[in-house]
Amino acid sequence: MQLYTTNSLKIYNTLSGEKEVFVPLNDGNIGMYVCGPTVYSNVHLGNVRTFMSFDMVYRYLLHLGYKVRYVRNITDAGHLTDDGNVDNDRFVKQTRLEKLEPMEVVQKYTVDFHRVLEVYNLLPPTIEPTATGHIIEQIELIEKLIEKGFAYESNGSVYFDVFEYNKKGLNYGELSNRNIEELFANTRDLDGQNEKKNPQDFALWKNASPAHIMRWNSPWGEGFPGWHLECTAMSTKYLGERFDIHGGGMDLKFPHHECEVAQGKACNDITPVNYWMHTNMLTMNGLRMSKSTGNYILPMQLVNGDNDFFEKKFQSSVVRFCFMQAHYRSVLDISNEAMIAAEKGYNRLVEAIKQLDSIKASTISTLNVAAWKNSCYEAMNDDLNTPILIANLFEGVRFVNLLKENSVTLTATDLEDFSKTIKAFVFDVLGLASETSSEGNLEKVTGLVELLIEMRNTARANKDFAMSDQIRDQLLALGIQLKDGKDGTEFSMV
Ligand code: AMP
Ligand code: ZN
Repeated sequence: MQLYTTNSLKIYNTLSGEKEVFVPLNDGNIGMYVCGPTVYSNVHLGNVRTFMSFDMVYRYLLHLGYKVRYVRNITDAGHLTDDGNVDNDRFVKQTRLEKLEPMEVVQKYTVDFHRVLEVYNLLPPTIEPTATGHIIEQIELIEKLIEKGFAYESNGSVYFDVFEYNKKGLNYGELSNRNIEELFANTRDLDGQNEKKNPQDFALWKNASPAHIMRWNSPWGEGFPGWHLECTAMSTKYLGERFDIHGGGMDLKFPHHECEVAQGKACNDITPVNYWMHTNMLTMNGLRMSKSTGNYILPMQLVNGDNDFFEKKFQSSVVRFCFMQAHYRSVLDISNEAMIAAEKGYNRLVEAIKQLDSIKASTISTLNVAAWKNSCYEAMNDDLNTPILIANLFEGVRFVNLLKENSVTLTATDLEDFSKTIKAFVFDVLGLASETSSEGNLEKVTGLVELLIEMRNTARANKDFAMSDQIRDQLLALGIQLKDGKDGTEFSMV
């Protein structure tokens, strides 16, 4: 597909604090890296908002015709809360709690993460690397940083030397707009401080205490990598020393992304990322969603209704619609009322799309499809403004209603263009349930099996046992078992 509009997409870049025209490093190709989840427990709905925002960015770039290499990692080791103290290691804590091997914890929550993303209709990234699969690359980066004078070993751990970095004229704090004196004042006295030259220095490698079960050999003894380094190692390996887009939630701006900028510049003498994108937080009933405060809901609980916050269950597409109604850089609050309103809006949109196929073309157009289509692209090109796009899609809903009443008309070409555009934005770009989403498929399978059960009942009532047995046996061959009980026939997947 050819690019719809070259050089008209603008993206807000955290680094400059401005909306900038998006120009990829390699014409037609984009490298995008998004920090993935730390898989020591289930992702909450707030995490899903961030991943969904980048899914929308990815979908729009694909829609524009770009070839995108989209890397989203899995953090399965080395997520230091502050200091590398074993009691603060989330994996180690969870391993003890669940009496599992660390890699069992990782596997369990990675599987859960993928399942959630499938239900919420997120496209998989093109590469999904893990931190533990890139220990060698991380060690090599550390060696390079030591060699170039940006890092030092201390007691089996290695730290990045922030002061040395600044002395060389580089600017630690440029992404999050902090200055080093301020950082100095705000750094708490933590375990490991006595190993550091300065409190702002951050760990690239931590010496593992005997209690630390996730450990690897290194030139500095057994230990484990620092969290910030894994993203630099994986983004450099798959996207190069400099790439187009790096994303994550706002809370990762500092220290995580600030440290990534420093590591990249120190290693490769080049700023690693052209456009830094940060998404805003999801709040629930006014409070930020977070595991630690208990103000959270699991993504599946909203879909199956198993929670105390919402009065009913909601389709994942309705949740997606609700998220897309807010701009990715704005805080979004979800509440029962917000979800009910989103459900109404979503149903109205989907209903209008269903009507489209029954509208007849005319010999003249009395609506300006080109102008409407242009407003849709303008909204998305203005820093991915999905709320404005949705307002335009509702203008499209109004068109559908007018067309149905024959108050306005469209030629066959305009009607096709209108129909294709509205469907492309709703299904491909916003990712709202399409015919092929897993949730939609499940509903269809359930409907089909129920229909076959009814046909089998009719066959049995007519004493056509050959037919009723055929239905039962062939469903079983497909992995669907029928069970006859006194309340009728139920089915299960075997
Ligand atoms: P974590 O697994 O903690 O590294 O988080 C995964 C992603 O979710 C990161 O990009 C976080 O910034 C993001 N995140 C965490 N809490 C929220 C929230 N309440 N709303 C939106 N994004 C969040
Ligand atoms: Zn990261």
